Amino acid sequence: MSKQINVALIGNPNTGKTSVFNSLTGLNQKVGNYPGITVEKKQGVCKLPRGVKAHIIDLPGTYSLNASSLDENVVIELLLNKNDKDFPDVAVVISDVENLKRNLLLFTQIKDLEIPTILVINMADRMRYKGISLDIDHLEERLNTKVALISTRKNEGIDHLKNLITNYKDISVTPCLDTSEIDKDYFDNLRKAFPNQLVYKLWLVITQDVNFGKVDRNEIDAIANFKTKSKADLKRLQQKETIKRYQFINSVLKNGQTIDLSQAKDLRTKLDRVLTHKVWGYFIFFIILLTIFQAIYDWSSVPMDFIDSIFASLSEWVKNALPSGVFTDLLAEGIIPGLGGIVIFIPQIAFLFLFISVLEESGYMSRVVFLMDRVMRRFGLSGKSVVPLISGTACAIPAIMATRNIENWKERLITILVTPFTTCSARLPVYLIIISLVIPEGRFLGLGYQALTLMLLYLIGFGTAIISAYILNKILKIKGKTFFVIEMPNYKLPLFKNVVLTVVEKTKSFVFGAGKIILAISILLWVLASYGPGPEFNDAEAIVKKEFAAQNLSEDDLQRKVASQKLEYSFIGITGRAIEPAIRPLGYDWKIGIAIVSSFAAREVFVGTLATIYSVGSNEEETIKNRMAGEVNPILGGPLFTFASGVSLLLFYAFAMQCMSTLAIVKRETNSWKWPALQLIIMSTFAYIVALVAFQFLK
Ligand code: GDP
Ligand code: MG
Repeated sequence: MSKQINVALIGNPNTGKTSVFNSLTGLNQKVGNYPGITVEKKQGVCKLPRGVKAHIIDLPGTYSLNASSLDENVVIELLLNKNDKDFPDVAVVISDVENLKRNLLLFTQIKDLEIPTILVINMADRMRYKGISLDIDHLEERLNTKVALISTRKNEGIDHLKNLITNYKDISVTPCLDTSEIDKDYFDNLRKAFPNQLVYKLWLVITQDVNFGKVDRNEIDAIANFKTKSKADLKRLQQKETIKRYQFINSVLKNGQTIDLSQAKDLRTKLDRVLTHKVWGYFIFFIILLTIFQAIYDWSSVPMDFIDSIFASLSEWVKNALPSGVFTDLLAEGIIPGLGGIVIFIPQIAFLFLFISVLEESGYMSRVVFLMDRVMRRFGLSGKSVVPLISGTACAIPAIMATRNIENWKERLITILVTPFTTCSARLPVYLIIISLVIPEGRFLGLGYQALTLMLLYLIGFGTAIISAYILNKILKIKGKTFFVIEMPNYKLPLFKNVVLTVVEKTKSFVFGAGKIILAISILLWVLASYGPGPEFNDAEAIVKKEFAAQNLSEDDLQRKVASQKLEYSFIGITGRAIEPAIRPLGYDWKIGIAIVSSFAAREVFVGTLATIYSVGSNEEETIKNRMAGEVNPILGGPLFTFASGVSLLLFYAFAMQCMSTLAIVKRETNSWKWPALQLIIMSTFAYIVALVAFQFLK
């Protein structure tokens, strides 16, 4: 058996690392986190010629080895730690052909760590359009390595890259830069003090304030103490290093690359002028959002109705086909409706991610970040907060993790605290079902009221996040200022493969992440709803028969009365009725109460819970929605889900902090229980008050 080759994909952001990774590994990939921190770790396996296998890691984007964020630390820690099990046998530096000069800085640094380093020049398909031509032989000779000119879009050059990886042992590890060019004496002394160490590695350790948790601590300390120079002097040397590197790169590119500027039509400038315009930019962004929400609605309704009816008939079928008993009831009334409550939202969640990933892939998302920076500044956030706030529409957990690239602690903390207000995909199921019950179906100027309501809820979430940020910015006494730098990638047609993989991965993680909790809670709820303590539950049949003896009820009606008597006196009914006084002013009954309580674990449980509660004892083949529409308000009479109670519920869900996983992640990111506790208390109290006011006002 041959050994597996460890390959690390490294490069500036947006050069196509993930695209190369996808091309090399296909579906053989898994995504996790680096141990202890929340930076995403993508790994996969690639089959190489002659039966060799490569273990590939897609590292976070980094501009240089001078770390300034957690993401970049990951790269440096890996490259400096030979003992890491992922330490690369070969580094593949991905550059993009349009920014070769800047990309090469990182390449030279990595090569100087004496790791075999292959240079990939990606986006070859853009060369003609941009008037760029390259002399690959010259580049290979001067950079002293192998170069692969590829295009993941056109799927060109990937096989060549695989060959280079297979033969990585042929690649020279001679450094690009001679350190004595920076400061001869200093580096000579360093070399003498640590004869067994690579000088450039020592230099990185001395100049970085990174946390080399995994590297041998004593050794690092000894090196770091080697400070024969002041901090300012070291900084100056670092600058000198960068200058030397660029001198080298310029000399390489002078003969290795020619750019015919007359060929570069500047579509990009024209597009940017409109898309980041002070007025049109926002207008276009707004229209795009509107279109997205309308599309999510229009496109998902057919598959959703289909899924809904499939699960309803499945329940029915199980009931008829299996021998009646506890297990059959659990399956038909607990597990299947619970699962249905998750599966039904796949179409909508998939469409949402489809749009988000197209916006990201096309380069438009960076324009949004730039555009929103103007707005965000005023609220104590950074333009970079837009990314968490927008990814918060998927899930607050990755969104809160994404705040890690906000350097300023105050801005970061504020972003963490307000992100849970943005409408996450877990709220979507709740919103969708309630909207479909209480908002009429009409259209206004071609836009459905229901879609508009959904969009309004997203805007409310976003607005609340921003206003809370403003308040927090005034209250929190934390100092610090940052400058905003964002790179604007070129506009591109999204790569189909990347989009599909994102959609699949995110939808899967919704289904399996949320699915486990929902299923567990569905089963628990079914048990609590199927058993009860007193005679009111156990003798339900006799009680109901006696009560309705006079009215000649049909067998079906009688069974339904029995079922609802049982539910009312089951364990769950008792709990629900106990909290009913507290939620009655909001327009909810005890059944909704149960759903709210159980959804403090995770919001999406709400729908599953109602589905479970309403299907216990119901015999008909009916969809969840119809059952909910048929619910009667026990006090006021009339339907339970009215405009007033519906809106009140929508608002409650918009503001309440109902997600244990988010609280856990906030605790981890802020390293204190104070912030998640405050979040839970303040958000939930606020939600209660708003829902109360809304119901009392509208009823
Ligand atoms: P990463 O940030 O380095 O992981 O880069 P991604 O793989 O996410 O790609 C960044 C952008 O470049 C995406 O919009 C891709 O569709 C695009 N892209 C990737 N490879 C190519 C290519 O070969 N040609 C062109 N024209 N675009 C590409
Ligand atoms: Mg990437």
